[in-house]
Amino acid sequence: MFDLQPSLSDASETVPLSALQHYSYCPRQCALIHVEQVFDENEFTLKGRWAHTRVDEEHVRSEAGHQIVTALPVWSDRHGLSGKCDVVELRDGTPHPVEFKHGERKAHRWDEVQLCGQAICLEEMFHVMVPEGAIYHISSRRRRTVVFTSELRAETLRIAAEVRVMIAKSAVPPAVNDARCNGCSLRRACMPEATDTGNRPDWHELMLRMEG
Ligand code: SF4
Repeated sequence: MFDLQPSLSDASETVPLSALQHYSYCPRQCALIHVEQVFDENEFTLKGRWAHTRVDEEHVRSEAGHQIVTALPVWSDRHGLSGKCDVVELRDGTPHPVEFKHGERKAHRWDEVQLCGQAICLEEMFHVMVPEGAIYHISSRRRRTVVFTSELRAETLRIAAEVRVMIAKSAVPPAVNDARCNGCSLRRACMPEATDTGNRPDWHELMLRMEG
């Protein structure tokens, strides 16, 4: 049995795992939530919250020979990350994170990035490699395996570094004003048509330059 209450690193200095997903989706959305503290509900956020209600209660149980832990707090002192895993399956001592999502599989990798952040935290906490996890799509009842490749790990840590700089500098990127805005809960607060100046610097490069 492992310790569920180890000492957490100072959360104020860490990047929330949810911010990795937000930034991966749209850097401006991440800034509105994590810098400007704006949050608004829409169909997608409500469904997302519903998806988590069934797992968002801290407890441990056994299933099919595995120990199952829900709503497990996780962190990485090394990479300055913290958050919560929906579900962690312990298979012979190796943690296997499972993230619940309400929708279908997305074309982009923002969900994978968030899950990979969880795996990076679990590796530091359990001192083992976490080679893969899974995303469970509630509407289709499909579970798909996500392999934490070196490419996905590098992308996740790059995003974490950019988010850290963005929050530290209280920077808010310009609107992307594209198809992503259609499903965005912050559309009303963001006003992408009004705030899109057409001037779109390479935001990722800018954040990395500010970091140095
Ligand atoms: S409305 Fe568009 S630009 Fe604004 S935060 Fe959402 S996705 Fe980003």
